[in-house]
Amino acid sequence: MSSLEEPLGLDNMPRLSVIGRLQHCTSTACRPRVDEMEMSNCLIEGRECSSSNSCTEEYGWRRKPRDMFSRDSLIWKTSRNDRNQMIFNKFFRGMPRYVKIVEVGPRDGLQNEKVSVPTAVKVELIQKLASCGLSVIEASSFVSPKWVPQLADAKDVMQGIKDVHGARFPVLTPNLKGFEAAIAAGAKEVAIFASASESFSKSNINCSIEESLTRYHKVVTAAKKLAVPVRGYVSCVVGCPVEGAVPAEKVAYVAKELYDMGCCEISLGDTIGVGTPGTVIPMLEAVMSLIPVDKIAVHFHDTYGQSLSNILVALQMGISVIDSSVAGLGGCPYAKGASGNVATEDVVYMLNGLGIKTNVDLGKLMAVGDFICTHLGRQSGSKTATALSKITADASKI
Ligand SMILES: [Zn+2]
Repeated sequence: MSSLEEPLGLDNMPRLSVIGRLQHCTSTACRPRVDEMEMSNCLIEGRECSSSNSCTEEYGWRRKPRDMFSRDSLIWKTSRNDRNQMIFNKFFRGMPRYVKIVEVGPRDGLQNEKVSVPTAVKVELIQKLASCGLSVIEASSFVSPKWVPQLADAKDVMQGIKDVHGARFPVLTPNLKGFEAAIAAGAKEVAIFASASESFSKSNINCSIEESLTRYHKVVTAAKKLAVPVRGYVSCVVGCPVEGAVPAEKVAYVAKELYDMGCCEISLGDTIGVGTPGTVIPMLEAVMSLIPVDKIAVHFHDTYGQSLSNILVALQMGISVIDSSVAGLGGCPYAKGASGNVATEDVVYMLNGLGIKTNVDLGKLMAVGDFICTHLGRQSGSKTATALSKITADASKI
């Protein structure tokens, strides 16, 4: 079995003693020492990680004696001094203690992958993702197969996951017809998608922003009658492949329209991945001036490698819902070179490092990434998965 095929469960990860030997052998490696990583762990004061997927227990290679975080430990003592309090106030105040990850790999990820994926593989992917602890998994899209041939089997996917429990499975619906098809297929939640860029709206959904809002109003009205929650996406929130920079006020306007018509959550998408904290912060501020922060999600693509820094500032601003895609699947057909969503593995790794709970099992998630990448014949877009796989492979040679 190759390392790609072999599930990389926590039990397969090397123990600390093995890592210590590895580091001894490769003293010039730029990887931080395990003790340095532990020192940086749980920096957020008061975050004691006790669940099975918590930051102190997630990685076998970072496992440590049980009393490492006891009250006698160095970390406990230093976390009480003034300097650390100052650091906490400066960087971590306002960050959520729990983040809901919305896994969009089976929809946003796969719809932009060139290799056709059989329905059975999609169903297995969703089942496996649910077993990782992910509470929301966007399952498919009821758009015209002409637009997105990869997701033409949405109805069959919904049939295949009807007995999967423990997660919610929203689907994308572009109009009333798509909504009705989704409900008939068993969907309990849906999502609609507007753009903050006029040009992108016309090229992506073939209508103006105002026309799309009118269309979505009908979908939301129908959904309300059935008590079906609707999520609203806003795309191109910082940049558009045609228009360039998108004004923050325009994003806030579209987001507010979706919120006012009844969307329960607004996901702000940097569709082409051009945003940096310098553009993301003013955009989020504009939206947060109109919509409660607990109704806002962020959705970043990693084209310029800015996703995690953008997510970090969103967390600092109090946002607690993050969209991501296992193995960083996807891309954007309208932006040459645009890469997929930020990888879920990388998001979970960072959140674990911050002591923020997600209830997602990183070891299992990496195995799911391997599973889908094998089917797609591509490498994982997750740096965390790549790095942890290498460490495990290195350790197995000793
Ligand atoms: Zn996206």
